[in-house]
Amino acid sequence: MSEAKAQPRRATRAVQVGGVTLGGGAPIVVQSMTNTDTADVAATVKQVAELWRAGSELVRVTVNNPESAAAVPRIREKLDMMNVPVPLVGDFHYNGDRLLAAEPACAEALAKYRINPGNVGFGKKKDTQFAAIVEKAIEFGKPVRIGVNWGSLDQALAARLMDENAARPDPWDAGRVLREALVLSAVESAEKAVEIGLPRERIVLSAKVSGVQELIAVYRDLATRSDFALHLGLTEAGMGSKGIVASAAALAVLLQEGIGDTIRISLTPEPGAPRTQEVVVAQELLQTMGLRAFTPLVTACPGCGRTTSEFFQVLAQKVQEHVRGQMPVWKLKYPGVENLSLAVMGCVVNGPGESRHADIGISLPGTGEAPSAPVFIDGQKAMTLRGEHIADEFVQVIDDYVARRYSASTPD
Ligand code: SF4
Repeated sequence: MSEAKAQPRRATRAVQVGGVTLGGGAPIVVQSMTNTDTADVAATVKQVAELWRAGSELVRVTVNNPESAAAVPRIREKLDMMNVPVPLVGDFHYNGDRLLAAEPACAEALAKYRINPGNVGFGKKKDTQFAAIVEKAIEFGKPVRIGVNWGSLDQALAARLMDENAARPDPWDAGRVLREALVLSAVESAEKAVEIGLPRERIVLSAKVSGVQELIAVYRDLATRSDFALHLGLTEAGMGSKGIVASAAALAVLLQEGIGDTIRISLTPEPGAPRTQEVVVAQELLQTMGLRAFTPLVTACPGCGRTTSEFFQVLAQKVQEHVRGQMPVWKLKYPGVENLSLAVMGCVVNGPGESRHADIGISLPGTGEAPSAPVFIDGQKAMTLRGEHIADEFVQVIDDYVARRYSASTPD
């Protein structure tokens, strides 16, 4: 059986965002957004650092008032002092032109500006305010994401398309008109930015909707009609498993077709849940699709009537948390460790077989089996663990393997 592979990436223009490359065949970039009040410098610095440590390669912050614009350069400065080099993206709505003009240090500290053409300004002010932000991007040498969202679609454009549609001999359905409005808003705004003088190599497009099928249709169209780098994301994806499943379903189809240069998973955090969950989901989506590798992933069976204790679930969780926790150190010390594969299996039925497929696997005893856990390393049975300390011993086996296998590739 031939292995399914993602189609080659669509040719898009490479955009430099503070040292991170979007598009042009570069690896797909994971990004995230804070939910702190940007004017609260300490809270925002803390969350940006957490998102970066979790693996976010760009972090977007809201810049919605003079206080938050004034805070941005201080946030940048504190992050630099903490050796957190992640580029910051400023999210502007309604007043971005005035904030950027009033706070040049903010305009300088941001690595990219996000403009929403649907609410950059209204009536006669729309074009001048859009132009003012683009001019700031030109002045400060920054790229811009033109990010359309169907919750804030350019109403004048939507009305124009509705009128044009009504005049068609065979009118489109409302959904198609809406999709056309989203794509056209992004593409026409990008062309306006180019006319103002922003190089094409400094433009990223997005057109987000909250429905899976609509998102797939919109981005297929956008990818056909432009060669700008594309930011993918299902907007307002929702909470918990619903948000994860919907985002993964939509983005996986597009990524499989070679569409998308950077992704953000717009999860609503459950109360008390860390903001970093959206980064973990984005990484796991790319990694499980074989598009990038970030951290060793644990293959684990779902468990069944053959596993009546929680032990194997606890071990699978412990192993995943251990490797994720070690990654900040491991990725510096052990290049390539992100490709390590691990398996934690619940019984003898599929345990030894799946464990042999992994670099390191353990097959725990199911109900009624002898209380011993064979460990497989590189496809061979290497040892059997027994007793109360199986979990700690297995983690030690992983640490020893990582040090042995990956330290050889550490550069001098
Ligand atoms: S490996 Fe064993 S415990 Fe796990 S799902 Fe299969 S039969 Fe059940």
